Amino acid sequence: MSDNAKLRAIPAIEKLLQSLGQIDMPRPALVAVVRREVAALRKEPAIPSYDEVLARVRKSVDQLRAQRIQPVLNGTGIIIHTNLGRSPLSSAVLETLQSIGGDYNNLEYDLVAGERGGRAGYLEHNLAILCGAEAATVTNNCAAALVLALRHFTSGERKEVIISRGELVQIGGGFRIPEVLEASGCTLREIGATNKTSLADYRRAISKNTAIILKVHRSNFFMCGFIESPSTEELSELARSKRLPFIEDLGSGAIVETADIPGAEHEPTPAEVLKRGVDLVTFSGDKLFGGPQAGIIVGKAKMVAALKREPFFRALRCDKLILSALQTAVDCYLHGAPTMANVIDLMLRASKEELETRAKSIITNLGGVPAKITIGLGKAQVGGGTLPKAVIESVTIDVIPKNISLADFAARLRSGPMPLIGYVSANRFKIDLRTILKSRDVDVIRALQQALVK
Ligand SMILES: *Cc1c(COP(=O)(O)O)cnc(C)c1O
Repeated sequence: MSDNAKLRAIPAIEKLLQSLGQIDMPRPALVAVVRREVAALRKEPAIPSYDEVLARVRKSVDQLRAQRIQPVLNGTGIIIHTNLGRSPLSSAVLETLQSIGGDYNNLEYDLVAGERGGRAGYLEHNLAILCGAEAATVTNNCAAALVLALRHFTSGERKEVIISRGELVQIGGGFRIPEVLEASGCTLREIGATNKTSLADYRRAISKNTAIILKVHRSNFFMCGFIESPSTEELSELARSKRLPFIEDLGSGAIVETADIPGAEHEPTPAEVLKRGVDLVTFSGDKLFGGPQAGIIVGKAKMVAALKREPFFRALRCDKLILSALQTAVDCYLHGAPTMANVIDLMLRASKEELETRAKSIITNLGGVPAKITIGLGKAQVGGGTLPKAVIESVTIDVIPKNISLADFAARLRSGPMPLIGYVSANRFKIDLRTILKSRDVDVIRALQQALVK
C-alpha cells in the first residue's frame, strides 16, 4: 500500500466515535482511546478493514472501562477479598460518609472554644477504650502505621529491629514485611530459624544498636510441627528489662471473638495483645474490624503522642471520610452492636439454613434459563490475610450453562452491568452466597439471566 493510499484508508476519528454508539464514559477519554488506536494503525504495513478497526477500538474501550472502580458481586466465598475491595462498609458507616462528605464539619475545629482544634480527638479517645489502650491514633493504612512506628524508633543512633525469621512474611500485593521495614530506614536483625525462635535468640541479639523488638502476627499462614516461639508475655518482659519498645503488627486484629464462628479459629484482639505487655499494636481499620481501610495504632500514651509529633505523620494522616467512618464503626462496637459496625462479621456468622433459603429463592426466580442450576456446597474463607485455618461451610449456586463454555460464561458474568465473580470447580460455575449480601440477590438473578440468555 502506498503511503497516500494508507493514509486515506485510515478511518476518521469522528466516524469511529459515531460507530461506537452510546458509551458510558466521558467523551475526552473516549476520543483519546480512539486516537491511540488510529495512531497505532499508521505503524502497520496495511490498514485493516473498517470493521476490524472498530472492533479493536471497542476492545480498547472495554478494557479501559473495566478498570473503572464499580460495584461487583463477590461470589468467590473469600470474605475479605483483597482484589475486591476488602471489607464492605455497614449502612451506619455509609450514612456517616454521606452526611460528613456532603457538607462542612468540625474536622479541625473546636466547637466549644470556637477556634481551631485538634483532629480526631473523639475517635482516638473511643478507639483507645475499645482496645483497652492508653491511647490510639490512625494512619492511612496498616503498612503506613508500621513504617511510622519503625521510623520513629530507629531515627536515633540505634537502628536495629529484632524480628524472628518465622515472621518475615509476605502479605497481599507483594507487600513484604522485610521490605517495608527497610523502607523505613532501619536495619533488620533477623533471628532464629523459620520454624524455631527462642527467647534466648532474642536475648542474644540485643545490643547497644537495638532499637525495637518487633513481632509480626503470622496472619495469613500457620505453622505446625517442630515449632517454637516465645510467648508475648516473655518477650514483653525481656523488652521491659532492656528498656526497649515492643511492637506487634497484628495485621487484622479482631474486636469480637472469632472462635465461636463455626470453622474459624481465634484471632488475637488488640486488647488481649496489649494486656500481654506489648507497648504498641498496629492493625487495619478494615479487614476483620470492618471499617474503612486505615492503620490503627494503639498502646502506650507517650509513644502514641511521640508518633503523632513526627513530621512524617502528616504525610500519613487520614481525611474526614476515613476518620468519620472509623468513628462510627468504633461507636457501634462500643454500643455493643458489632454487626452495625461490621458487614464482615455478619457474613461470617450467616447460617447455612439462611443461605440455603436464599439459594432456593434465587433458583426459583431464574425460571427457564438454558442451564442446569443446583444448590451446592461451598467452603468460604476469611481471606485478607486473616484466619488462614478457617474453612466456613457455605452454600453455592452451581451453574452448568447449556450453550456456552464455563470460561465464556464466566467472562459474560464479569462484563455485565453488575459484574459477578465466582469460581469454577468440578466442571460447574459456583457462586458462593456467603459473600453476597441478601439485598443483592436480585442482582445475582439479573446477572445470571443476562449471561445465560444473551
Ligand atoms: C494486612 C496486613 C498489613 C497491611 O495492612 P494494610 O491496611 O493493607 O496496609 C500489615 N501487616 C499484616 C500482618 C497484615 O496482615
